[in-house]
Amino acid sequence: MVVVGIAMLQGARHAHMDALNAAATELDIDVEIVELRTRHDLDIRTIDALMLPGGESTVMRLRGNDEASNLLPAIFDWIRVDEARPVLATCAGAILLSDPQDGGVPLIDAEIDRNAYGRQVDSFQTELDCGFPGIFIRAPRFISTKDEVICSHQGEPVGIRRGNRISLTFHPELSGDTRYHRMLLEACQ
Ligand code: GLN
Repeated sequence: MVVVGIAMLQGARHAHMDALNAAATELDIDVEIVELRTRHDLDIRTIDALMLPGGESTVMRLRGNDEASNLLPAIFDWIRVDEARPVLATCAGAILLSDPQDGGVPLIDAEIDRNAYGRQVDSFQTELDCGFPGIFIRAPRFISTKDEVICSHQGEPVGIRRGNRISLTFHPELSGDTRYHRMLLEACQ
């Protein structure tokens, strides 16, 4: 049994849950998904992996640092324990990892530019260099990175990996392809 905690701050959380369940079925493993809303949720549950969806990073920072929640600092503490802890961060989730704004070290070694492709209407879908359907929604761009590039678009990194921390600037949960959710579950084995 693999227990995945998902940050319920904002974004396509239920699409991620569906993708995780589908990935688990494909890998023939049991998965339990734990919804994380406050620091307390992480205190009382032991998780094997963490899912950090996209959304709007400013909103996620506000909600996640709110006194009633304090989920974001708890998540950063959990991730910082060890690079081997499996994390899948998408879009705004990747922004939070590259720039946690908590006085601590960044969780991925990448400089990231928010809204780098333009406004919401400039969102687009394209095939990535690895053949994956890339859905970019007011997406950020990796400007530079020292982490392993696991996926690119026209030669530019759009997916990076540092230990078991996987960060993507696109939305794999909306594509019907569970490759990256499987990668997260496989990192737990
Ligand atoms: N534009 C958002 C931000 O800057 C990210 C968009 C997304 O997660 N789809 O936080």
